[in-house]
Amino acid sequence: MTSVLWREGWIKPLLVESLPSETCSFCKRKFDDLDFVTSCEYCEIGIIHDFCANKHIMSDHLKELEDKIKKHKEKKLHSFQ
Ligand SMILES: [Zn+2]
Ligand SMILES: [Zn+2]
Repeated sequence: MTSVLWREGWIKPLLVESLPSETCSFCKRKFDDLDFVTSCEYCEIGIIHDFCANKHIMSDHLKELEDKIKKHKEKKLHSFQ
């Protein structure tokens, strides 16, 4: 079985100057114009690139992720609403 992970689809533009940090907490690089950023739902790592979040979750939160996938499969799968 193949699971994909759906992130919320809305995009909220933010000024880097308004963020607590101008660098990604994961890769330590400065945010570039129009980088996709997000935060981690499992820890307080701070603002990180979207692609860094994927790596971060896969390396640091694989257990939580697997639990979530398992829980989701146990629910009867309703069609999209
Ligand atoms: Zn990064
Ligand atoms: Zn995390």
